[in-house]
Amino acid sequence: MSRSVSKKAAPLPVLQVCAEIFPLLKTGGLADVAGALPSAVRAQGVDMRVLLPGFAPILAGMVSAREVARLPARGDVPAARLLYGRLPACECDAYVIDAPALYLREGGPYADARQQPFADNHLRFARLGWAAAEIANGVDSQWVPRVVHAHDWHAGLVPTCMRQLAVAARSVFTIHNLAYQGLFPGETFQELGLPAACFAMDGLEFYGQVSFMKAALQDADRITTVSPRYAREIQTAEQGMGLDGLLRSRATRLSGILNGVDTAVWNPARDAAIAAPYTAQDLRGKAVCKAALQAELGLQAAPERLLLTVVSRLTEQKGLPLLQVNLPKLLQRGVQIAMLGSGDAELEQAFTAIAKAHPLQVAVRLGYDEPLAHRLIAGADVILVPSLFEPCGLTQLYGLAYGTLPLVRHVGGLADTVVDCSLEALQEHTASGFVFHDFSPEAMDAALRRAELLYGQPTFWQQLQRTGMAQRHDWEAAATRYAGLYRDCWTAAK
Ligand code: ADP
Repeated sequence: MSRSVSKKAAPLPVLQVCAEIFPLLKTGGLADVAGALPSAVRAQGVDMRVLLPGFAPILAGMVSAREVARLPARGDVPAARLLYGRLPACECDAYVIDAPALYLREGGPYADARQQPFADNHLRFARLGWAAAEIANGVDSQWVPRVVHAHDWHAGLVPTCMRQLAVAARSVFTIHNLAYQGLFPGETFQELGLPAACFAMDGLEFYGQVSFMKAALQDADRITTVSPRYAREIQTAEQGMGLDGLLRSRATRLSGILNGVDTAVWNPARDAAIAAPYTAQDLRGKAVCKAALQAELGLQAAPERLLLTVVSRLTEQKGLPLLQVNLPKLLQRGVQIAMLGSGDAELEQAFTAIAKAHPLQVAVRLGYDEPLAHRLIAGADVILVPSLFEPCGLTQLYGLAYGTLPLVRHVGGLADTVVDCSLEALQEHTASGFVFHDFSPEAMDAALRRAELLYGQPTFWQQLQRTGMAQRHDWEAAATRYAGLYRDCWTAAK
């Protein structure tokens, strides 16, 4: 009896497997989650280590690295050295796969400098799956995880590889975005080192192709996604991206855990990147941030103009074509827009052209710029997130924390976190932003007009700002739920 009590109290070893981690390497919200989770779950009695591919910024961020194992080749997946060391920037210990031929290349983690996915991505990320399974199988005799938590398609083979090695550890798989599934031609299957039986309808075969995402959805012991609403949405044909049937069949194993915000990084009272700090009680610094932003971007210095911002990947998913249609009307109405993003070349060109034609009203910065993202979110009045679909979304949470009212579509995590300023919600002091339903320029424009109208009512505007700023979206709540899930899943396995 006492033995089981003391066992329960011991820290639970959990291996987190991901392709990117903030602040070393980031292409999206996945990196923020991966970076925040190790410290956040430590407080919940979880001993989390991370496994990452040996991309240049990861290796450069590693200290006290030593080789712990030689990982064998699996099929055409090449052998590699497994390093163990510390990532001080992420405040965690990490295993890193040292395989220069796979990971040290020009371009990003998934695609070359021209945005073309690397032709051998199936091998690069199968290496990650096999390495995780080998760690779960005890390749480092000093530390063996009970639970392996894999993120997104890059780590999609983790649960399948774990099954092949018949490890005791359980697997949790988190979907950050079902739209990116890790699909490869069927012929690549034989290179992955998996038995032929895996290439089947109840395995990783997806209409003749190999799907890393489907492999995980079939084989993981638990599946999570990053908001409760998205967990429901992906079980529908509309948002299931062809995997809704499988997700429905696994519904009892599927849950949604809302992402948190790293409040050490995103806090207007202590943000070194912004012109002046401010709090919900004293918003004067926010006006300073707005003036500084207008000056920096060459926008008209006009405190009375509503300043909208977008900080986003420029893709169809993010709903930016809706903004594009509405821009001429917004310009006529005297609104300012400051945009930071990169992605779709057509969208980049279209927005850049509008900024050139209206430099006092529109500023567009292409590329990835973390400090500028802070200055935009602090300086703007409204942050736009008109997504077609949105698993969780982080920028609306930053907007809430910075008193920058989110204008969002009622979908996924956006619907879970922003309350529209209906008259009832205003009366109840629950309103925190502007929400529209239909994915149409007209519906978005109606929300924009509501925002413009309310901006002329400072008392109500500040009420919304304070409601948003009072909300807590830190990692503690999410970490408690992840830690509970790890424990449940390990206990259920015994
Ligand atoms: P997604 O993961 O779909 O891109 P999220 O809203 O979940 O969207 O996360 C996006 C993250 O990336 C946020 O932290 C956001 O601030 C950041 N981000 C997006 N584009 C840029 C950019 N161009 N420069 C700096 N940060 C960016």
